[in-house]
Amino acid sequence: MKSVKLSLFLLLLPLLLVACVHTQTDQVYRSKTTLQTKQPVHRQQSLVVVIDPGHGAYDLGARNQYCEEKDLCLKTGHFLRRHLEQRGYHVIMTRSRDEYVPLKKRAAVANDARSQVLISLHFNSAQSESAQGIEVFYYPKGEPWRKKNSKRLAQTVLSRMVASTEAFSRGVKEGNYCVIRETKMPAILIEGGFLTHKEEMHKIRDDRYLDKLAHSIADGLVQYFEECK
Ligand SMILES: [Zn+2]
Repeated sequence: MKSVKLSLFLLLLPLLLVACVHTQTDQVYRSKTTLQTKQPVHRQQSLVVVIDPGHGAYDLGARNQYCEEKDLCLKTGHFLRRHLEQRGYHVIMTRSRDEYVPLKKRAAVANDARSQVLISLHFNSAQSESAQGIEVFYYPKGEPWRKKNSKRLAQTVLSRMVASTEAFSRGVKEGNYCVIRETKMPAILIEGGFLTHKEEMHKIRDDRYLDKLAHSIADGLVQYFEECK
């Protein structure tokens, strides 16, 4: 009887060892999985976004009898900052008050911070009162990876903005603007609507609309970073 028990034990021993090793491996795997699920949060916190509200001080930008572009850019910039910080991004603004910052200095702020992206905020004007809608520019030359990612960022942000506001899409365009040309990371310049279009101006004058624009820009950025993983 003793020899039968011994044989059974010897038979079962390898199985027990396998089960034990498997449990340990599983624990190691689980702890790795836990780390992996936490990783995006850590990664997100280390992502730096530079927001560049256009114009400032004596550089008014576009204007009409109701408002000046420099103020709209700054308001939208503050809204965008809040939405991005709520999502855990580190945000740097090229200006956070009504001041004049030279264009090359704005690009240098993003380059020095080694930010992942730069978002420049503007509003539009035109001779024709019928011109309306949102357009997003990227710089089409230089490093191929930067050009490709700038274009992708522009497409993602524009589609989110248009979906959220139902504004007319003027599309993604190539532009040779200093802040998107002189920066080393993917960069876009958003024209958020026309101050010279009656109905669009009516919407833009409302801070809730600017906040909606900012929210959709943040959604576009989040989507862009998700797709970059
Ligand atoms: Zn402008």
